[in-house]
Amino acid sequence: MPRFAYVNGRYVPHPDAAVHIEDRGYQFADGVYEVVPVQNGRMIDEEPHLDRLDYSLRELRIAWPMSRAALKLVLRELTRRNGLTNGLVYLQVTRGVAPRDHKFPKAAKPALVVTTKRMNPTPAALVERGVRVIAVPDIRWKRCDIKSVSLLPNVLGKQKAAEAGAFEAWQVDAEGFVTEGTSTNAWIVTSDGALVTRNADAAILNGITRQAVIRLTNEVGVAFEERPFSLAEAKAAREAFLTSSSGHVLPITRIDDAVVGDGKPGPVTKRLRAAYLGYVAA
Ligand code: PMP
Repeated sequence: MPRFAYVNGRYVPHPDAAVHIEDRGYQFADGVYEVVPVQNGRMIDEEPHLDRLDYSLRELRIAWPMSRAALKLVLRELTRRNGLTNGLVYLQVTRGVAPRDHKFPKAAKPALVVTTKRMNPTPAALVERGVRVIAVPDIRWKRCDIKSVSLLPNVLGKQKAAEAGAFEAWQVDAEGFVTEGTSTNAWIVTSDGALVTRNADAAILNGITRQAVIRLTNEVGVAFEERPFSLAEAKAAREAFLTSSSGHVLPITRIDDAVVGDGKPGPVTKRLRAAYLGYVAA
């Protein structure tokens, strides 16, 4: 348990941290969040994470709770107070506290909560053997580009994966295309050798890891296509993997009961993982 949380202007002991029952995050999931990884005491890709926070807030017409510079100080101060070296900083902004009414409140002030969490590196066995994903229908709303705290379909998908002994659930849209995982972006290397991930439309969250890996595709020298791919194409792919701030680049060796490629993490996945780890360590 971390020692402190930041709640609306105060660093409070984590066990006592609380928000009001009429916070609109609690009432309506009327809020957004970000997760910034911390590695060796450094925040990774902090600016892109804050840019995406800005995007999410703008799309929902929620004001910044404080200036960007002040928020950066809060993230650093909480990291320092909690002695966080490896893990993540979680920050959540809601539209604030107001009597329950769907319309935007006139006077509410955006509410900010920040917490930290220690995390161990991904177990070597997962990286070496790869993980399994299961397919689930994508039952989410049509604005998955906003990093909203409304995550019930993601919760249900991840729970289903856990109950099936799988690492993640890949959500599949009505046309049979994979959108993304419940907390990760989805990638394949097709049977023709092209690296493919879905284009960042409103059907997916544009992962910060996804964006970094796209920049690294040049280094790895692989043909890259940003387009939707179907579950059938994924099951017939040579390689598959997922990306996220906490998992980095993680090989997938089974989709439902289909073995991907030869059942081992593939060469493109391994090269991209190494390139990404090099990027975050630099
Ligand atoms: N998609 C969803 C739905 C997510 O929740 C996440 C994790 N924030 C991602 C993709 C991966 O994004 P990132 O690389 O920024 O962690």
